[in-house]
Amino acid sequence: MKLSMYFIPTLREDPAEAQIISHRLMLRSGMINQTCNGIYSWLPLGFRVLSKIERIIAEEQDTIGAHRILMPTVQPAKLWQESGRYDDYGKEMLRIKDRHDREMLYGPTHEEVVTDLARQFIKSYKQLPVMFYQIHWKFRDEIRPRFGVMRGREFLMKDGYSFDVTREAAVETYKNVMSSYLRTFARIGLRAIPVRADAGAIGGDLSHEFHVIAQTGESEIFYDSDYDKILLNGEITFADINELYTAADEKHDTETCPVPKERLRSARGIEVGHVFYFGKKYSASMGLFVIGKDGNAFYPEMGSYGIGVSRLVAATIEANHDENGIIWPDAIAPFHVGLITIKRQNTSIQNVVESLYGTLLNMGLEVLYDDRDESAGIKFADMDLIGVPYQVICGLKSIDGIFEWKERKTGKRLYFSQDELLNKLADVFPVVKIDSLRGNLYK
Ligand code: ATP
Ligand code: MG
Repeated sequence: MKLSMYFIPTLREDPAEAQIISHRLMLRSGMINQTCNGIYSWLPLGFRVLSKIERIIAEEQDTIGAHRILMPTVQPAKLWQESGRYDDYGKEMLRIKDRHDREMLYGPTHEEVVTDLARQFIKSYKQLPVMFYQIHWKFRDEIRPRFGVMRGREFLMKDGYSFDVTREAAVETYKNVMSSYLRTFARIGLRAIPVRADAGAIGGDLSHEFHVIAQTGESEIFYDSDYDKILLNGEITFADINELYTAADEKHDTETCPVPKERLRSARGIEVGHVFYFGKKYSASMGLFVIGKDGNAFYPEMGSYGIGVSRLVAATIEANHDENGIIWPDAIAPFHVGLITIKRQNTSIQNVVESLYGTLLNMGLEVLYDDRDESAGIKFADMDLIGVPYQVICGLKSIDGIFEWKERKTGKRLYFSQDELLNKLADVFPVVKIDSLRGNLYK
């Protein structure tokens, strides 16, 4: 993508309305635009990141055998009256009347719709277990929408729903989903700590929230200090979750906490995911019954599993930025590599850069090429702000085949020949058309 042709309305100044860094940086880098309180448009740069997160989540859901579907955003009140949640849900639910005066609502979650779907199609234990998911917009009329897409009123969620024959099987499913969440967040480039939580409005008896640690987190979480070692050393596994104490604020009780005081840590967390096992709550109230092996009808055991897809964009920035801007993890960066020319007036440099740009695109890389007639300082500042993880700077030396390479995260700068440069990119982004890439390189 040539920056001169890209729609990226960056701001030089900090927008006054943004209180936290991710909101400021998302506005400054032209990722989002507020339509009204808590409701946003996603501009090209923001939408690229959102889509990448969505794709990773979808791949990991597919891996555990969940079926991707798409349910309606607008739902009939009738289904919620059946489950008994219509009155309980309160003012967060956006209630609408259609032209025939029928009560409708914009879905804040989809347990009712999916249970209704299941009761129409799932009749036999042989059809179980089954799990559905969607990645779709939710509306919750939050009392205090704030921090940009971190707490919006309309937001993108991955919501999944499982149906099992027995409680044991449902708990196994729950654990599988938790493990897949750990892989999902790790692939995105985030460490999200699972903490024991209250099931709240969804109901049920087993629940975990996943939190990204950040000073601006709205929740307080508690954990065994042994967790710090895991956090430092890399990936969290399911075994860790079982062994070590963690708790969301409402679940934590100083009196009964099993962890000795000196080992107890607390931190601010951003909730990016939440999983629930709630048994027969919806299957029983909505009459989803299934014929079992013994010929008797039973209500399936259910769970539901959410990931805040749009919130993850902001949470990633909270956890990955510096004073110059965003530092995207490789896997969700809007572009893999930024190409900056200094001394653009020099036609030899221009030719080298145009040709390198073509080569990188052919490799399948996503390149943001700053071809604007701007000063080097502005180009460097914008590329840092946008947070492209690797930058290639082309100047006079590039006429002799030398390119400057800069890593956004560390600020490390190196000089590479074109072959070294391509090799490096192939190492960093192995998923990019790897075969054709290696072929080109070693020919
Ligand atoms: P919170 O406690 O932050 O209000 P919640 O517990 O009400 O969230 P869930 O019902 O667990 O939310 O929804 C699943 C996920 O959707 C949450 O873990 C969060 O990441 C995301 N989410 C919830 N509400 C919002 C919102 N208003 N804006 C953006 N993302 C949200
Ligand atoms: Mg929650």
